[in-house]
Amino acid sequence: MLKGQRKKDPGEAELLRWIAARTRLDPARFPIGPGDDAALVNAPQRRLVVTVDTIAEGVDFKLESATAHQVGRKAVAVCLSDLAAMGAEPLCLVASAVLTRGLGGSFVKGLYKGMESAAARFDCPLVGGDLTSWAGDVVITVTALGTPVAAKAVTRSGARAGDAVFVTGSLGGSIRGKHLRFVPRLAESAWLVERFAPTAMIDISDGLGVDAGHIASESGCRICIEAARVPVSRAAHQMAAEGGACALTRAVGDGEDFELLFTLPTIKADKCIRCWPFKTRLSLVGEAVEGEGAVLRHADGKEEPIDSEGYQHF
Ligand SMILES: [Mg+2]
Repeated sequence: MLKGQRKKDPGEAELLRWIAARTRLDPARFPIGPGDDAALVNAPQRRLVVTVDTIAEGVDFKLESATAHQVGRKAVAVCLSDLAAMGAEPLCLVASAVLTRGLGGSFVKGLYKGMESAAARFDCPLVGGDLTSWAGDVVITVTALGTPVAAKAVTRSGARAGDAVFVTGSLGGSIRGKHLRFVPRLAESAWLVERFAPTAMIDISDGLGVDAGHIASESGCRICIEAARVPVSRAAHQMAAEGGACALTRAVGDGEDFELLFTLPTIKADKCIRCWPFKTRLSLVGEAVEGEGAVLRHADGKEEPIDSEGYQHF
């Protein structure tokens, strides 16, 4: 061992054994799971979609208002939402948790059970991970592996002038609870990719405006959102009624809704709306046009830039 390097805390080692013992993996898909130095995964195809997300105490959750189970669930769901955005089907996860020393075994077990609940729902097991503790805040990193549903993964860069712009669900005020409870739109994404081949797609993590801006800049077009068509959530209305930003501003600017924002050639738009089989709301919110940036178009025709108004971490 290097000087100053520490051995695994006996408590952590015991918790890792607890995790390994309760993990049930299909040996045909995952011949080696938790308990060895690394997992062995039989990937169904040669191409993998890989994404990693970190959530940190004080930034993405507060331990006064979120349970360990909710934090674990969120850490996995955020990562799965990125797979959905790429048009990928989940395969497996690995996770790393850095916990505040002294948080205790019940916190770790709650965290793990939360991760497990999100993972089980999408048949995307946790095949490995690491646990450590320090004097700082809780930080959890999850890596997800997936496989593209169609021949190609869906990127942010394929939108073209003339495409219709859609969003799933309703937006704004996710801080009131949706940011801990949201369901990654994997089913909706797989359906869309198989039947309608979206030209571009992203999950709304930074806010509708900022994420529409990402599609605009990557695709080299302008994303024009009709103010009257933005699906505003009940939470956004409630927060607006209590003062502060208006509901539409929240729907456009708030982050962490984890809905899908995607584009389709206009010719496919009506059929997509007619065939949409999910309870999840689907809204045609605007169009891609020549130009750049993301704008909100009001009823009087005035356009307002929205691509830098979302929640900024930095
Ligand atoms: Mg994303």
